[in-house]
Amino acid sequence: MASRFLQGRNMATVTAVPKTRIAGGSFLLESRRPEEVFTPEDFSEQHQLIGQTAEEFATKEILPNVEKMEHKDFSISRDLLKKAGELGLSSVEIPEAYGGMEMDKVTAAVIADHIAKYAGFATTWGAHTGIGALPLVYFGTEEQKKKYLPRLATGEIVGAYALSESTSGSDALNCRSRAVLSSDGKHYILNGEKMWITNAGFADLYTVFAKIDGEKFSAFLVERNFPGFSVGAEEHKMGIRGSSTCPIILNDCKVPVENLLGEIGKGHLIAFNILNIGRFKLGAMCVGGGRVSLETAVSYAKQRKAFGKSIGEFGLVREKIANMATLLYVGESMVYRTVGMMDAALSEVDKSAADVAKQTLKAIEEYAVECSIIKVWGSEMIDYIVDENMQIHAGYGFVEEYPAERAYRDARINRIFEGTNEINRLIITGFLLKRAMSGQLPLMPAIKQLMDEVLSGPSSGDELEGALAEERKLVGQAKKLGLFAAGAATQKYMQAIQDQQEIMGAIADMTIETYAMETAVLRAQKIVEAKGEAAAALPIAMTRVYLTQAMEKVEAAARKVIAAVADGDMMRTQLAILRRLGKYEPFNTIELRQQIAQKMLERGKYTLA
Ligand SMILES: Cc1cc2nc3c(=O)[nH]c(=O)nc-3n(C[C@H](O)[C@H](O)[C@H](O)COP(=O)(O)OP(=O)(O)OC[C@H]3O[C@@H](n4cnc5c(N)ncnc54)[C@H](O)[C@@H]3O)c2cc1C
Repeated sequence: MASRFLQGRNMATVTAVPKTRIAGGSFLLESRRPEEVFTPEDFSEQHQLIGQTAEEFATKEILPNVEKMEHKDFSISRDLLKKAGELGLSSVEIPEAYGGMEMDKVTAAVIADHIAKYAGFATTWGAHTGIGALPLVYFGTEEQKKKYLPRLATGEIVGAYALSESTSGSDALNCRSRAVLSSDGKHYILNGEKMWITNAGFADLYTVFAKIDGEKFSAFLVERNFPGFSVGAEEHKMGIRGSSTCPIILNDCKVPVENLLGEIGKGHLIAFNILNIGRFKLGAMCVGGGRVSLETAVSYAKQRKAFGKSIGEFGLVREKIANMATLLYVGESMVYRTVGMMDAALSEVDKSAADVAKQTLKAIEEYAVECSIIKVWGSEMIDYIVDENMQIHAGYGFVEEYPAERAYRDARINRIFEGTNEINRLIITGFLLKRAMSGQLPLMPAIKQLMDEVLSGPSSGDELEGALAEERKLVGQAKKLGLFAAGAATQKYMQAIQDQQEIMGAIADMTIETYAMETAVLRAQKIVEAKGEAAAALPIAMTRVYLTQAMEKVEAAARKVIAAVADGDMMRTQLAILRRLGKYEPFNTIELRQQIAQKMLERGKYTLA
């Protein structure tokens, strides 16, 4: 297979990202212009070439081997990792100095999107290139990087990341694994066990977390052949059976002191930063996997007959197809908007600085909220899609010969790993509140301004002009609903809101939907500006369908919050304000969904044209 895109090495300098540096979380307070957001329509020739390479790799190399991997022939997985390495698909995030391609995050997302055609291998590849290799990229010493990264880049060695334990998953800092320095000061001696470790069955290098002297949470680079290291039996999983998941056992495991990763007692920085980085890729994979399920559903709906018609002619089936396509449009838009912002921030990092890794991490961490949004929204989106795919396949969906069954099982894990969706919802609201309290994000003044505005009575409303004016207005209303509810909640609980998880969750839901709504509108607007309204008919239809359902969610979450924080007359007043803020004329979503479904069925695939 041709690795044409290898010729385009060092592309961090050639990819076109919008130049605007946008603060993370600022979407809640500021309006963006379409030219400020990156969309799939902005892919450079290089991105497209990489996409084609990854697509060919997925269809020609991964898909023919699915059955073998499902039956745990991991020699195939290793071979595929080597092939991906040869094609440069595994090293886009590794610096050139250590054998990597050193490309932008858009490229990383494009590859993840295509590799996701088969979730079993996508998990293997994702763990190897992400949580397996990135701890070294961002926290390794020069010697550590030189020793391991070039071989991780080519797939000669395989990486894994061992944080979770049987008694501490979400609560990972509470781990029981211990490390003590040997009496000669040459080794750390590790004891403990790690649970559910992806790639564990065949990996060569593991980033293992343990507490030095039972206190200082730290990370270690542990090779498979180190004395005292062993791997337990494969788990029998519900899904992603083509990936390896095993416990690892540390029994007086001898780790040379030079394999301590990062600083003693600062392992939490590695653990959480690396998971944060992984989240946008998980979102890209959910989009890629979801697209496959939509296409399977469309193809089945065209050929399956009932009551003398193909089932794709029935309104209730078409509605499902339209919903699936709409979600994919929104998901794609959110993933690439976010990685585009990251790339804009990363383009300002001084590559020659001694603290380049630190600067890079800071630029990525800026978008922690958006990354968590993509993780939560993407994993729930793919679960919806695989469920409706199963429903369209009905009886045939429930049996193993049809791919709907595997897709249904494979998708479920996404809501559990890389931080459960509950933990990520808490991260979203917690991070925003932290920024608001520190003044980094002027959330509190915006809330106060809105409170004053709404309490002074109905205004004539914001009149917007130009393409998608109604839709932009709706996004503005969703932002106000979210801010109003968040304002009422923070007024009541102040700092103690952190303990009100249901309210934190509802605020996260409003935040997630607001980002999704705004992103859908901005992309449609950008397409209208580039190609005209007629060419943007599908993106506009999808945007309208999405806005309608998202607005319902935002309103419901806002009502839930108000009912929890106010009562009596105050509650009634606040609910009246919510009704005013949430007022809009509905779109004819039945007709819009018909149009969307018709196009998907005509083309036999996900399309925006
Ligand atoms: C297939 C697979 C692959 C995996 N790969 C890896 C890997 O490569 N490396 C690795 O280190 N780990 C890995 N994991 C582990 C995974 O990251 C954890 O399962 C996950 O973090 C959740 O931890 P837990 O299972 O212990 O659940 P728990 O933390 O026990 O959570 C149970 C439930 O309680 C909720 N909950 C927990 N704490 C809170 C809270 N504070 N507030 C509200 N709700 C809460 C959770 O959201 C969840 O619904 C993998 C797991 C699986 C199944």
